[in-house]
Amino acid sequence: MCGIVGYIGNKSATDVLISGLKRLEYRGYDSAGIVVVSGGKLHTVKQSGKVRDLEQMVYSRWDEKFQAGATLGISHTRWATHGSPTPENAHPHYDQTGRLAMVHNGIIENYSSLRTQLQAKGHVFKSQTDSEVLIHLIGELYQGNLVEAVCAALKHVEGTYGIAVVSAERPDEFVVARKGSPLVIGLGEGETIVASDVSAIISHTRQVIYLDDDDVAVVRASGVDVRNINNVPVSRAVAKVDWDVGAAEKGGYEHFMLKEIHEQPESLGNTLRGRLDEQMGTALLSGLSLTPRELSAIRRVVIVACGTSYHAGMVGKYYFEELADIPTEVDQAAEYRYRNPIIRPDDMVVAISQSGETADTLAAVREAKQKGALVVGICNVVGSTIAREAGRGVYLHAGPEIGVASTKAFTCQLTVLLMMALKLGRCRRLSRQNGMELCEKIQEIPKLVKAVLARNDEIVKVAEQYHQARDFFFLGRGAMFPVALEGALKLKEISYIHAEGYHAAELKHGPIALLDKQTPVLAMVNDIAGRDKMISNVQECRARHAPVIGIVTEGDADVEANMDHVIHVPKCSHLTAPIPTVVALQLFAYHVARLRQCSIDQPRNLAKSVTVE
Ligand code: GLU
Repeated sequence: MCGIVGYIGNKSATDVLISGLKRLEYRGYDSAGIVVVSGGKLHTVKQSGKVRDLEQMVYSRWDEKFQAGATLGISHTRWATHGSPTPENAHPHYDQTGRLAMVHNGIIENYSSLRTQLQAKGHVFKSQTDSEVLIHLIGELYQGNLVEAVCAALKHVEGTYGIAVVSAERPDEFVVARKGSPLVIGLGEGETIVASDVSAIISHTRQVIYLDDDDVAVVRASGVDVRNINNVPVSRAVAKVDWDVGAAEKGGYEHFMLKEIHEQPESLGNTLRGRLDEQMGTALLSGLSLTPRELSAIRRVVIVACGTSYHAGMVGKYYFEELADIPTEVDQAAEYRYRNPIIRPDDMVVAISQSGETADTLAAVREAKQKGALVVGICNVVGSTIAREAGRGVYLHAGPEIGVASTKAFTCQLTVLLMMALKLGRCRRLSRQNGMELCEKIQEIPKLVKAVLARNDEIVKVAEQYHQARDFFFLGRGAMFPVALEGALKLKEISYIHAEGYHAAELKHGPIALLDKQTPVLAMVNDIAGRDKMISNVQECRARHAPVIGIVTEGDADVEANMDHVIHVPKCSHLTAPIPTVVALQLFAYHVARLRQCSIDQPRNLAKSVTVE
């Protein structure tokens, strides 16, 4: 999650850092900041808002002479995870002495216990971020050798980080480290530039070193010295980048949507990180701010959402009812406040929105609050309006989603809903043993998604065969029904093919009249409850000459024999199966749209965050 740029060399660090941050803007962010080292002092400007606002502040505060003189600095675009996007929470953060500064991307999971330990030693914190705790810890361990202090501090850290650290005393070097969050080092002539991705580097140099997890590096104008976390030197190969800037932003992928589809194992890892308590067989969702007693008093869940988030909510209904025995309703947010909904004091209203700004969902949140409901938000963007107004909830931590058609946010929403259902279930009838088993299944999710991504070529083949179709049907049963709706929505959004998602059993009550050999059917025939009935429904389609593409579980030979084409997904629990399955559908929609040469990242008529009713 978001961006870091660091520079040391023969140019004005300020100029290089600001233009580097602009290159990283596409990654999404909510605040930005910069610190340069000059004359034995640290000079910082930071604020919420855009890089161009930061730029204006910097150039109005720092005169030209000063700027030209400062040749070492680090900078940051923040995508808030802990604490709202305020100037105080923006990076860089300082240590207790004010002599060290750091920018951080990622999440320090154990920040709360580290903060308590540091507070006991007299540390005072100025922000709500997890990041500030890390630089205080580095400061606490600092005895004149920066890289030693960084290595020592990182040994106490759980979570993910890409960091850059400067010291007022060291105008000749800075230290960077990574685990989970990317960092690349560009080696120029008499200058070295570090950034979260190569797009901020390639206007300076094309010689780069990609740091590995647990690498720590001392960066100087003459080059870098890479070490492992024990401060022992390691060697890293220098690579040559031959991408242009556009390709670099997309990490070499043709579209943001494809990049985000492929990022899912990592985003799901971030959603899960620190949230499963395997010992107690439950989930740790501190943002809910509800005691087990309060959670056990909930008698009904009402989910309000739009579009893809609505489909996530429909899967959530299966989770809440099966795992937590709580009757659950899913409402289209746009309709909710107009039908004067009945809300009782023991209802929990769950509002789902990636951006946290969806106007219809926000209106539903306000109506529910007005009627006295307990409202919980599931959002990706920290500090967004829905997150603030709900006052409690669970963040996705999926990282910024840029492609208009939502992909990684959806799979992270399902994962959060599953963890919420587990938590609610454990406050009721779900046994510790069953909870522990479920934790194991949830833990597998990133691996399941990886297995589907590895099937890309199989999916391309099917897309090649059917990309010219005019109409599609997507069929599923149970929790796979909303997955079918989501698959059809993806195809509509980016390929402009008319696609209908239907419950497989509903087909014969009308729409089967539309089937013919020009109308391909995508059927979710996973090896879970309902499989045999799905096979019958597939036969009904084939009897009308519709070609059927089955999403089938690896190794399920009986089903394969009943399909015209198959796309395989790995064997897993019926609870997690919607996630790998929808990834296959995302890839299918993507490849169809690509073959039709559609504008995949900005489909016609669509906006990323729908802020009108
Ligand atoms: N967790 C940190 C924060 O909320 C860093 C977020 C980021 O990656 O930008 O400040």
